[in-house]
Amino acid sequence: MGGEVLLPDRVAKIVQEEYNKLKPSSKPVLRSNGVKEWTVLASTLLLDSNTGNLKMISLSTGVKALPDKELSRSGGKMIHDCHAEILALRGFNTVLLKDIDNMNQNLRQSDLLEISDANGKYHLRAKWKLILYISRLPCGDASMRTLSNSSPTSSSLKSIDDSDEFQYIDPNIPTILRGRLNFSRNGVVRTKPGRLDSLTTLSKSCSDKLCLRQVTSILNCMTWSLLDTPVFIDYLLIPQLNYDNKNDLLLSFQNRLKCSKVNYRPMKYLTTTVKFSEDKNFITEEPSSMSSIKLFLTQGETIEEALLNGVKNGSYTKGNKPLRKNCESIVSRYAQWHIYKRINPNYSATSYLEFKRSQTARLELIKYTNEILSSEGWLPTQPDDFAV
Ligand SMILES: [Zn+2]
Repeated sequence: MGGEVLLPDRVAKIVQEEYNKLKPSSKPVLRSNGVKEWTVLASTLLLDSNTGNLKMISLSTGVKALPDKELSRSGGKMIHDCHAEILALRGFNTVLLKDIDNMNQNLRQSDLLEISDANGKYHLRAKWKLILYISRLPCGDASMRTLSNSSPTSSSLKSIDDSDEFQYIDPNIPTILRGRLNFSRNGVVRTKPGRLDSLTTLSKSCSDKLCLRQVTSILNCMTWSLLDTPVFIDYLLIPQLNYDNKNDLLLSFQNRLKCSKVNYRPMKYLTTTVKFSEDKNFITEEPSSMSSIKLFLTQGETIEEALLNGVKNGSYTKGNKPLRKNCESIVSRYAQWHIYKRINPNYSATSYLEFKRSQTARLELIKYTNEILSSEGWLPTQPDDFAV
């Protein structure tokens, strides 16, 4: 079939086209001082394995994470981790919840899901394969080698010795490193990269989170309880991957989790020459503070939000002030829990964390996986509980 566009190119073009349609407020800008901003773009798409058709589920941008301290007033409303790929996966879960809610209320059929005869739970229709598009390598372990080869600041950082305590959040846990410190060390958990003078985030890098997702599935505690079949990433598509990048992905993902204790689901790595237009091109460009999420619901409806500091743009309040009403994103825990309780009213008196802790099989998988990723211990983020 001459002239047929290859799947990776097709996906990258659709993702770029949908990005172009986002509102200007959702995108990086050219600052008044002439500095150009860049961001990371991500998307989840479903590939119909019978027809080859693609269905976009979520599109997101973002490179920021909140300091752990901010979470004390979150009550489920703030999004800790606004890196694009994590937002895209959150978006996927919100679409599943909305779809199930719709099926429940209108007894309508869904193109995404069907009901399992055996237990009345749901599963993704067998024809769908999940694609995660990310415009660059995920932060953390999988991208360290590329960074250390390309960054002019890396030579000084490389000289950090494993005994230098400042590279650790907790010196007793030498298998979790802060951001990009000690560049050349591979196979360790890293927190989200950030400036050294910024408040510490305990959010783990996207490499670590994607590793975990290929064991537990991309379902969150709510969709986990509604679906009887886990959903894994089948294809990870990143533009301009070379041989070394693909090897780094292999080392960082399946090689780190080579262990009989957990069952890691390998992804297929795809690449394309079609580059994202707002990727970082020059050292003078600055990361955008803005993140965004757009959901493509199965009824053709879309929801788009620009996010700043983990809440909807325009809703952020500084310091110890309470958060504004309706500041929460559609992909926040708070909003998802709201939909979940409409689907499953049995939990109306339960707090979000009580519910999450009741999903013991899922929590065990997370615990085992974290033990493999960081053998010397784990540093959880602050609990973010609430009751709606
Ligand atoms: Zn990241």
